[in-house]
Amino acid sequence: MFQPVPQRPDFPELEERILSFWRERRVFPKSLEQRQGAPLFVFYEGPPTVNASPGVHHALSRVFKDVFPRYKTMKGYYAPRKAGWDCHGLPVELEVEQELGFSAKQDIESYGVSRFNDRCRQIVLRHIEAWERLTERIGFWLDMDHPYITMDNDYIESCWWIMKQLWQKGLIYEGYKVTPHCPRCGTSLSSHEVALGYEETDDPSIWVKFRVADTRLLERFGADPKLPTYFLAWTTTPWTLPGNTALAVAPEAEYAIIEADGEQLILAQVLASQVITGNFKVIATILGAELSELHYEPLYKIPIGYSEQDKPAYRLIVGDFVSMEEGTGIVHIAPAYGQIDFEVGEKEGLPLVHSVDPSGRAKTFPSGVTPKYREEVLAGRVIPTFAPEVPIVPGRGKFVKDADKDILEDLKQRGLLYRSERIRHSYPFCWRCDTPLLYYAKETWYIKTTALKDRLIAGNDEINWYPEHIKYGRFGDWLNNNVDWACSRERYWGTPLPIWQCESCEGYDCLDSVAELKAKPGLSGFSEPLDLHRPFVDDITFSCPKCGGTMKRVREVLDCWFDSGAMPLAQWHYPFQNETVLRDGRFPADFISEAVDQTRGWFYSLHALSVLLFDRPCFRNVICLGHILDSEGEKMSKSKGNVIDPWLVLSRFGADALRWHLIVSSPPGNSRRLSWELVAESVRKFLLPLWNTYSFFVIYANIDKFDPRASSGGYRSELDRWILSELNRLIKDITDSLERYDPTSAGRKLEEFIDGLSNWYVRRGRRRFWKSENDADKQAAHATLYHCLVTLTKLVAPFTPFIAEELFQNLVRTFYPEAPESVHLADFPVADEAMIDDSLASDTRLAMKVSSLGRAARSKAGIKVRQPLSRVLINVKSSRERDALERVKSQVVEELNVKRVDVTVTPPPATATAEALAPEVTIDTELTPELIDEGLAREIVHRLQMMRKQAGFNIADYIETYYQGGPATQRVMERFSPYIRQETLSRNLIREAPPSGAYVESHRIASEEVVLGVRK
Ligand SMILES: [Zn+2]
Ligand SMILES: [Zn+2]
Repeated sequence: MFQPVPQRPDFPELEERILSFWRERRVFPKSLEQRQGAPLFVFYEGPPTVNASPGVHHALSRVFKDVFPRYKTMKGYYAPRKAGWDCHGLPVELEVEQELGFSAKQDIESYGVSRFNDRCRQIVLRHIEAWERLTERIGFWLDMDHPYITMDNDYIESCWWIMKQLWQKGLIYEGYKVTPHCPRCGTSLSSHEVALGYEETDDPSIWVKFRVADTRLLERFGADPKLPTYFLAWTTTPWTLPGNTALAVAPEAEYAIIEADGEQLILAQVLASQVITGNFKVIATILGAELSELHYEPLYKIPIGYSEQDKPAYRLIVGDFVSMEEGTGIVHIAPAYGQIDFEVGEKEGLPLVHSVDPSGRAKTFPSGVTPKYREEVLAGRVIPTFAPEVPIVPGRGKFVKDADKDILEDLKQRGLLYRSERIRHSYPFCWRCDTPLLYYAKETWYIKTTALKDRLIAGNDEINWYPEHIKYGRFGDWLNNNVDWACSRERYWGTPLPIWQCESCEGYDCLDSVAELKAKPGLSGFSEPLDLHRPFVDDITFSCPKCGGTMKRVREVLDCWFDSGAMPLAQWHYPFQNETVLRDGRFPADFISEAVDQTRGWFYSLHALSVLLFDRPCFRNVICLGHILDSEGEKMSKSKGNVIDPWLVLSRFGADALRWHLIVSSPPGNSRRLSWELVAESVRKFLLPLWNTYSFFVIYANIDKFDPRASSGGYRSELDRWILSELNRLIKDITDSLERYDPTSAGRKLEEFIDGLSNWYVRRGRRRFWKSENDADKQAAHATLYHCLVTLTKLVAPFTPFIAEELFQNLVRTFYPEAPESVHLADFPVADEAMIDDSLASDTRLAMKVSSLGRAARSKAGIKVRQPLSRVLINVKSSRERDALERVKSQVVEELNVKRVDVTVTPPPATATAEALAPEVTIDTELTPELIDEGLAREIVHRLQMMRKQAGFNIADYIETYYQGGPATQRVMERFSPYIRQETLSRNLIREAPPSGAYVESHRIASEEVVLGVRK
């Protein structure tokens, strides 16, 4: 006997039970052990940043990550799954800063880096526990007993080794470059991080007048020397104006000198009418090249260090980057605050003025130096002396975006502000702390990814992206526009750069291991137990091999994307341990999956490091997931209050329901909506139909003492052959979809199959299960349904592992103790293509289609299906369909409750639309007294069956039925007595008042009061 099955399953309770079962029986470890030595299926876990508890979007990727290793294991592969935790980086530091109420890096320094990092470590450890709990609860099988942890010394050491490899290939350099800089976090962001944080924002949009220093040069073009004359430039970052040291024009473009309101303005001729607000007169036009070398008065008199060869700043230069699309055709150049500005500044020898400090505050005493002067200072030829002067820049001490207002006000008062508006545009913000980023010149360590750009692009050719358009779209574009990877962070909690610099001769040394460090001459500050983090690693010094000076570590730590990108090697502590990783199949990965924003995050850092090190990609297949939205299609965010706590979903609906919804609701690459209702729907559409079919089977199989071991499997009805054909088609389809990394299509096929199984196979065959004779037909029905359900447990196992296990234990383990201990230790079904009967499938589809049209016609005419009709007329469009209908006629007769099916054929016109090719179904609505009586009999059977349920009888219980009613009731009860008794398992139909103890209901049937009573 099978275990009796509850009618209303409590999925969360069931899942908790299954979880203990898996734990106690060590099912996950066994699933690996039994495949040891089999072909490898390599999965890389993209390590989640454990700065907070996991959200529902994390559940999304974890569900997709789980499906494939489970499937591959059942297909015979050895699929180890090592967990990983990404521990370092700004997100964690920010958590601690928030806890401690810090607002700047200075707070951390005063608190103490050692204490600070210790708190980071504690936070990480705390969150890892939360991640482990959720991971287990959603059924994501991952080896969390042996995870890789990016903050471990071993992991850090592998990162050092990688850095050294790149160093030796000449791919690491320190550049003085403009980087996207977060003034709050006090660190540069890599360009993939910048890409994460673009937002629409409101900024000033201003046109500024730069007064021409000497107008005599313009006189020959007709300018009036008595009128004040200005170059007009446009900017959306007024805070960069004190840093201005040049203006750039396009050499080939025409510039106009115009006169308006008693002054002369110079700007690109094509833009004049857009920029100038009132009437104006064009006095002359000049080529941009002719403006070159003209000087203007600086907006702010900032002390500048010049070398002897330098030309004075505040002059016009020409550049091919000047756009005629927007602005004025004259570009304001501040070398400290823009990539192009910086490059132009180096080329033209312009002073670099930092009027803003790294925390984004306007300086009180800014000063500037030209590139040559800087060289002289570095060479020790000059000593910079900028005596503090009277503060000259407005907004000093304020954050740049606030200082903007002071600068505007100042320019306005001095008559230098031509126009001032606001602009709504896209501007990058720090993806972590939401502070506007500043493009800021400073010294930063780079990985020269551009040196291998072609190899990065070529490597991408070998990767299968799902969805495919990411490959040459989002990811391909990213590679095509590759820029060097700014990999250092001026922060605390991270993998320290393994680079030491000599205090005396400024020479560098990059180390690849702790062993190399320990062997250094003059080693000092090294203490055991070793912690490779700051500040301890900063205390370690050794002697400079060149000059004997002291080598000190540079202060930066590595971008945490470097940590995660290093995982293919660092998770194995390569090359210090597992030295065969690159040869034994553990590299590259067969499969990885994360959300689409990782194209510029983890997907990129993995790919970049792998190509730079080995000139080959490190993953073969990647599923790139869309985002999770709320039921309205809005992004989930704390501020909107529409975030769904995964634990609430799990405790209410269970993990299978959540998993099913996430997998099936939309293809992996699309965004998907999530709400209580949508998860509830996956219970209704998938879990319950599956459960109800299972429960139906168990009830009747137990009544009939069905033993699957005794079933011969000889005779099969057409319905049996049909569902077995569908089942094998399903196995084939699911296998194909999963091999193509498309679990969504596979899931949808499963839904369709279960719908056909419960709404056609079981419903059409219901009578076979409850008829009293235990003949070959009934045996075949049991055996076929049993086979379908057992196969289903294995097919759904990768998707909804809990319900699969529950069914498998009861259906299989009850009779086959020698079967695998768990469905997840079983083999994935293989389709028997000989069982697939395409014509039977299409015939049955036609029967279904015609039945559904017939039911629609009945409902339109207001006639219940229980009311038999004399005839249905079906007009089909081809003789092929007519022949098919002839074969499935008996099913249509029963399904539509008609006495006769008449089929006609009308070939459609050649121009027929697809819709016109559908069969037409017409019902004969004329009711004879005989038909009406038969309908009444069915109605009474229906009421009695409902009453049996209400009375709590078992399905196999025989009963006595009592009735009282008018003449119609009496006539029907007598005439259809055998039918009614058989359908309701009534020994007798007794025309008298029900005795006490019977279950009684009154009904109104055919305008008569009818009292019905049932008792065992
Ligand atoms: Zn920030
Ligand atoms: Zn030295």
